[in-house]
Amino acid sequence: MYNVVRIENMFQVMKEVYREYENGKIVVGPTDIAKNTGMAKSTAYHALKELAKNGYGKYIEKKGFVLNEHGIKVARKIMRRHRLLECFIVSTLSLSPEKACMEANKIDAIVGEDFMESIERKYGGRKRCPCGKEIPR
Ligand SMILES: [Zn+2]
Repeated sequence: MYNVVRIENMFQVMKEVYREYENGKIVVGPTDIAKNTGMAKSTAYHALKELAKNGYGKYIEKKGFVLNEHGIKVARKIMRRHRLLECFIVSTLSLSPEKACMEANKIDAIVGEDFMESIERKYGGRKRCPCGKEIPR
């Protein structure tokens, strides 16, 4: 069967892998991803394999995915986009940090570069997102 892993899923999975990494968990399995995102376990599995195929780390069968140096760099970039978008949403629309996180999840994979540049100009100096997590540099 042909499995299409959508870009939104890849972003979602990359963010989850990075969140686990921030918390000191180095090997992240499909079960972890499924639990934290509500994504189907098989989707999470294929997305993790896809991350490995794209050179972001390696997938150890029956264990999970481990980011490599390049993967960490990319994950930090993705997380920065996500958390800056949260800053923007909370500041301009006064949504709660939780709601801002949900909404940022829906758009962080697809907003354009010009849009992100404006966000960077306005919120790029922030150290932490509205929920208090570090915004990667
Ligand atoms: Zn968030």
